[in-house]
Amino acid sequence: MRIVLAGGGVIALLTAVECVSAGHEVVVADQADIPFSGATSFDRHRVLRALHLDDPAKTAAAISAHHAWTELEHLLSTSFYEQVGALTALTPEKARSAQEMLTAAGSKTEVFDADELAAEFPHAGFAPGTGAVFESHAGVLLADRVLAACAGWLRWHAHAELHPHRKVVGVDADRAEVRLADGEILRGDAVLLAAGPWSRDLLAPELSEELVLHRQTMLYCDVPPPDAAAWAATPAITSLGTIGGAWLVPPVAGTPLKLSAASACRVVDEVGDGKAPSRWREHLIDTFAELIPGFRRDWLVDTRDGHYLARRSTLGPMLAILGDRVLSYAACGGSSFKFAPLIARSLAARLTGADPAPTGLEPLDRPLVRASGVHPTRPALRGVS
Ligand SMILES: Cc1cc2nc3c(=O)[nH]c(=O)nc-3n(C[C@H](O)[C@H](O)[C@H](O)COP(=O)(O)OP(=O)(O)OC[C@H]3O[C@@H](n4cnc5c(N)ncnc54)[C@H](O)[C@@H]3O)c2cc1C
Repeated sequence: MRIVLAGGGVIALLTAVECVSAGHEVVVADQADIPFSGATSFDRHRVLRALHLDDPAKTAAAISAHHAWTELEHLLSTSFYEQVGALTALTPEKARSAQEMLTAAGSKTEVFDADELAAEFPHAGFAPGTGAVFESHAGVLLADRVLAACAGWLRWHAHAELHPHRKVVGVDADRAEVRLADGEILRGDAVLLAAGPWSRDLLAPELSEELVLHRQTMLYCDVPPPDAAAWAATPAITSLGTIGGAWLVPPVAGTPLKLSAASACRVVDEVGDGKAPSRWREHLIDTFAELIPGFRRDWLVDTRDGHYLARRSTLGPMLAILGDRVLSYAACGGSSFKFAPLIARSLAARLTGADPAPTGLEPLDRPLVRASGVHPTRPALRGVS
């Protein structure tokens, strides 16, 4: 089969690798470079941890995703996973129940009380009095390396065509074809739209209105040399236990320390450039100056904004079946990178007519179905130039 993929982020690239590995042909078209530095997936790191409080199925899925990433490293003959562990600040009761759930799912964990946390990670800025659960199998995916490895593998594969700077402006869900900005039609046996935060441009209003665009600011820092050893031995911290939802990714494999907080995430109307507005940069500087001992603005080496879409009703991702073999995966903020190998397997199965194995991820296992007449037919597509 020939599969056409619109987008060159982690979802489209991993799905393309899956399809090619299963013996199919793929055509990947991105509006910009492949990979594109402005894509949501294009960052130094993404956190891979299993814990999803009160959601054992998602927790088990994250453990499967961990194994799938390791397999992908083998296939692509490279490494992009740093198993530095992850700490999540929790009250003592919640830490114990998180530990029980993780242990039941097969993940090795440790619980820290407030004193142990303060003694072991005095530099990290945990909220006073908080405990934490530590996941030893968790860690950091070097996101830009993942994209480069997938694109490199596909570029040299006889059954893959990559088309950078070819924007998709329309989709025919009945014919499984996409129209490019230059007027060319790419026809396939199946089509995947994986346009990340730009997904709304390719969907009919009924679907695009279901999606809310978020924008989040991140700070990238070089830590002073005397602190470097402590930071190098620090796990990813998915929550410091603060009201504003501060989190950080340690400097691993030559990457900078990354700092952000839920309070630096806001709803916006349009995808902008990746430049962080000074108001949001200053908000994060003030936040971390209060948390991290000795933190100073001259640690900053870069700032960046990332965008993601979330479904209005669930705040999660959205997989929509637009036609017999036309799918749209409008990814969402918190976790679509780490789940990408599971998402890709499931999408590849659907695109190639195989039965998708259940993933434990509700939006994938129970997609939205937009039957003919509801999904966009050609003239109804938004963003057609
Ligand atoms: C601040 C932040 C932190 C995050 N942290 C984590 C984390 O720690 N762990 C985790 O698992 N996830 C995390 N995520 C979420 C994760 O990064 C995203 O869900 C995921 O990267 C989305 O991948 P994607 O391929 O769907 O989209 P993208 O990576 O944005 O790729 C979409 C691609 O489509 C292309 N495109 C768009 N429109 C068109 C068009 N019309 N024609 C052709 N091409 C088009 C774009 O150029 C782009 O290359 C985070 C997200 C943000 C914003």
